[in-house]
Order: sequence, then C-alpha cells, then structure tokens
Amino acid sequence: MDNKRSETATTNSHSLLAQKAIQNQLINESQPLAGFINIDGVKQTVQTLKQAFPEHFEHYFAVKANSMSTVLALLKTLGIRAETASPGELQQALNAGFTGKDIVFDEPAKTPSIIKKILNLGACLHIDNFDEMERVRVLLPPNHQGEIGYRINPQVGSGDIKAMSTAGQHSKFGVALKDSGNRTRIIQDYLATPWLNTIHCHIGSQGCSFALIAEGLKCIVELAQEINQKAGEQRITSLDIGGGLAVNFKNDEITPSFQDYADFLQEHIPALFTGEFRVKTEFGRAIMAKNGVIISRIEYTKNSGGRDIVITHAGAQIAARTVFMPDAWSLRLSAFDHQGQVKNTPLVEQDIVGPCCFAGDVIAHQRTLPKLTNNDYVMIHDTGAYYFANPFFYNSLPVIAVYGYQINGQQPTFNLYRQQQTLEQMAALIG
Ligand SMILES: *Cc1c(COP(=O)(O)O)cnc(C)c1O
Repeated sequence: MDNKRSETATTNSHSLLAQKAIQNQLINESQPLAGFINIDGVKQTVQTLKQAFPEHFEHYFAVKANSMSTVLALLKTLGIRAETASPGELQQALNAGFTGKDIVFDEPAKTPSIIKKILNLGACLHIDNFDEMERVRVLLPPNHQGEIGYRINPQVGSGDIKAMSTAGQHSKFGVALKDSGNRTRIIQDYLATPWLNTIHCHIGSQGCSFALIAEGLKCIVELAQEINQKAGEQRITSLDIGGGLAVNFKNDEITPSFQDYADFLQEHIPALFTGEFRVKTEFGRAIMAKNGVIISRIEYTKNSGGRDIVITHAGAQIAARTVFMPDAWSLRLSAFDHQGQVKNTPLVEQDIVGPCCFAGDVIAHQRTLPKLTNNDYVMIHDTGAYYFANPFFYNSLPVIAVYGYQINGQQPTFNLYRQQQTLEQMAALIG
C-alpha cells in the first residue's frame, strides 16, 4: 500500500461524527450499520457549484445519485432542480416539491403514458431516439409549453470505466450523431418542428476526462448553432450538458472542482459562456458523494489461510458497484474502536467483507488498516451518491437507516432521514 497515511487519516469532522454516532448508539445490534449525510457539506458543495458557473447556467441534480426525498428537498431549498430518468425518480422529485419547470426527464424507455405525464407537467423532455420522436409528435397537447429536444450521442469515445461511458460508438443512449444520415435527419426535424427547442447530451460518469467531455459538448454546440443559423432564428434556446464531473475517492481533497471544470469548458467551448444559450447541468456524484459516509459495526474477525478477515455488515446491499467492480470503485475506509475513537493499533492488511452469502462480497481486498477486532467500527467514505441511496436486495438484507447531521461547535446533531427497513416491510416488498 503506497498511501498508508491517507488510508487511516480521517478529518476531525468525520472523527466527531463517528464518535457521536457510536456513543449515541445510532449503530447497535439491531441497526448494525447506517448512512450519514453532511447537511452543511451539501450546502457548501452547492455554493461552490453555483459560484463556478455564470447566472445563465441552471443546475439539475441527477436524482439517481441519491433519490431520497429529504435530500431532494434540501437541494430544492438551495436552488437546485431535478434530472429524473424513471417514473419512480419523477415521483420522488414531485414528492420533494419540484414542479414541472424544475424537472427534466431522460428515461430511455419511456412508455406513452409517461410521455403524456411529462408533457402535461410541462417538464423538459429529452427524446432518446427517432421512434420516440414519432410518439411525442402524436401525444403533444395543443399549446404545449415546456422544452423538448433530442438527446444526442456525439460518439466521441469512452472514458476509463466502460459501464459509465455514454458517448461510445455503440452507446445505448440518444441519437448517434455520426451514423450515416442522422445529423441531416436531426437538423431537418429541428427545422420542421418549432416545438423542438433544446438539445441534451451526457458524455458519461466517473472516468471521463475533461478533454473527452469537452470534445462531445463541442459537437452539440456546433449542431445547435447550425440549426439556429439554418432556421434564421434562435430555434434552440437551451443546451443540457449533462453531469459526469468525477469524484476523487482517494482522499478528502475535492479535485477536480466545479471551478476547474467550468474553467476548462470556458477555455474550450466559449459559446457556453456567452449567454447565447441557457445551459443546464446534471451533476449527481460530484454533489453528493463526498457528503455521505456509511458506518458499520464489525461483528467478527478471523484468519483464513493467513489472511485477516474482518466481517462487517456493509456489503453488496449498499455497495454493489464496489463489490462487483472493485478496481473501478475502490472506497476509502477508516477505523474506530468501540467508543468511537480513531483506532491506532498496528497497520495490517485485512479483507473487509460484507454479510452477503457469496464469496465476492468484499468491500476492500487486502486493505492496510489498523488491526481491527469485533465491536470496532469501520467508516466507508464518499458514499453519499450511488451507495446507501441505491440498495440491492441480495439476501433480503434491509434498506439501511440514514441520518442527516450537522456539527455545531463540537456537537453533531442528527436527524433521521430514513428508518431502517423492518423485516415486515422487507417481506411485503419481496412478495
Ligand atoms: C447518471 C447521469 C447523470 C449524472 O452523472 P454523475 O456522474 O453522477 O454526475 C447526469 N445525466 C444523465 C443523463 C445521467 O444518466
């Protein structure tokens, strides 16, 4: 392990959180793990996002990253809107108080009834393909208000994580811009259809370089400018540039920052910054990942074939990506004793494993951490997006409790955001 220090180091606020959560018994025998959301952290992150971009940028949160209604309501109070991609996410956004004009809808497999619902809400609809365009044409109510446009795949290539890349040649999302005839057909559709007034594009998530994202967005800007020029008027008034700002999972530094991204875009695609178009963003991970952690009790430790094994309650049910793609989604851990004090036993390599009944249910392989024993605790960092908010029902493990917290002085205060699922609720859900 080359970075022993950062493996064990944790910020004061994370130590305080662990100490109080453990001393207040928020993690106990019947609730052996829980998620925690840093409310002030979310506020700060949103502030940095807004400061990085000019006024004509509108920021939509990618609801799939954390669809909890408390999180959505918090983001709404901070002036953030909602990017949704399924009927369930739409419902969560509506429950949190978002109205049609604050919502964009991006599901690739929209049924006619969800299309009607989106159009009636006046939410922004992104059309995935030419078949869908024909449906929308038929379903469009007279005098419809609200933005509609194609999702375009500029086919500029993939980032480091193939499963997270949406702008490869064969991506399942959007209309493939470089395929024969498509560009011409898209332009014709926009010119012939006055209610098409926006273009959407999302190059990918985590692992896409600034250069790759900018190359893709440039194609979209050029397409919009060509359409407007041919139309002889500003047909396309807004562009949605998607999300995809990567998160640093190695330490507490926020790098790249929203400002780094904005500066890069401004340098390479100045048209986004002139006000020629309203610009929408759809960040998910970069808003929430670093504002959440999971803390699990350690139930047992043992040694198998010379390897130290640490059995926790945190496995694939809250960290599916990390368990199934450990190299792409390695998470930082820190260790605490039974009183919530930072653990400072000798550093040793240990497998940190979850409760699920399959051999791959390991959240960290041969990780160098202070030697752990039962009744210690492990904190799993940077899990505010796509982890406890996206549970997986393997082994009928319950959805875990989540608390919002704020630290005033030295005193964290906790708000229950979501109760741990009861066994009865679990049974009802599984059917
Ligand atoms: C997932 C997704 C996002 C958010 O991606 P992040 O990497 O979390 O910022 C934004 N837009 C669309 C269309 C997406 O599918």
